[in-house]
Amino acid sequence: MINNYSYIKFRNLLMTWHEEIDRGLPWKETNDPYRIWISEIILQQTRVAQGRAYYERMIDHFPTVRDLADASEDQVLSIWKGLGYYARARNLHYASKQIIDEFNGVFPTTYNDLRLLKGVGLYTAAAIASFAYNLPYAVLDGNVFRVLSRFFGLDTPIDSTIGKKLFSEQAQRCLDKSDPAGFNQAIMDFGALQCTAQSPSCDICPLKENCVAFNENIIDLLPTKSKKIKVRSRYFHYLVIPKGNQICLIKRKDRDIWQGLYELPLIESEKSISTSQFIDLFQETFSINMVDKRSIKKISTKKQRLTHQMIYGNFYIINMDLSIKTARWKSKEELKHLGVPKIVDDFLKEWLQE
Ligand code: SF4
Repeated sequence: MINNYSYIKFRNLLMTWHEEIDRGLPWKETNDPYRIWISEIILQQTRVAQGRAYYERMIDHFPTVRDLADASEDQVLSIWKGLGYYARARNLHYASKQIIDEFNGVFPTTYNDLRLLKGVGLYTAAAIASFAYNLPYAVLDGNVFRVLSRFFGLDTPIDSTIGKKLFSEQAQRCLDKSDPAGFNQAIMDFGALQCTAQSPSCDICPLKENCVAFNENIIDLLPTKSKKIKVRSRYFHYLVIPKGNQICLIKRKDRDIWQGLYELPLIESEKSISTSQFIDLFQETFSINMVDKRSIKKISTKKQRLTHQMIYGNFYIINMDLSIKTARWKSKEELKHLGVPKIVDDFLKEWLQE
């Protein structure tokens, strides 16, 4: 049973630790809800070192919520290119239009209104509410789950409904109501810098005397999860079709990964296949009978891991006329301004340099 004294102790130790830390991040020096929102969305699933450059690019190109709303989806995806999780960029764009249309261009100021924005979940709403408006909402992200789980010795799986509710209550109890922004920043920084997932710095941790995981030597066991992520393998066969100084691309439209991004024309197979099996599949897809099978040659393979999928990409140069209704012919220069999945981007960069 965790008593009130434990929450106060945790809070005080944490805040004292934080006073000595200064990460000097640009979004920490503002209480502009727009900038905080952009930074929080970027930092989901992205390390600070990588996220910082994207944050600056986004703010440079779209300094206000209206600039973002006025941009085209292609422009937004192009700035986001390489960061992955493109649904986040599309949601940002959509939500910026919501702010213009439904909130008269004024950024929502309450937690409940923030939750109405597309892509703004419990974590992001709490982060904006506390950092921009100093409202008493505790953030709960991977760092916070880990810190609370270890310090208080909580072994309820963090991916279960009951676990999410329990940790959310604990975070709220720990919150320093007089300084929600400071507390939220402190616990997130503590998880990112001190109580890290792989090698927490327990030896020099000012919380170790009161930390259950440290004192019971169960740091590696916490936090717990009930499910393992299932990773689905997918086999993408990309058609590289050059014409003059242009290359054939298509825009992904399905309700699938990378929606709205540009990529090479694609044939997907259910399992890994040889080049000769691919040529059979290619002929079947385009209803053609090829005389010279040397018109198709595999020139590269690449793979990309997503959270729930492993993409195996094969790239085939196609030396024949092919009619693709949705083809968009783009030059090397135009390619630079398009959002393209990383696996295709990596291939094109290599291939276009040759
Ligand atoms: S002692 Fe170790 S496990 Fe406990 S809070 Fe500090 S860094 Fe985390």
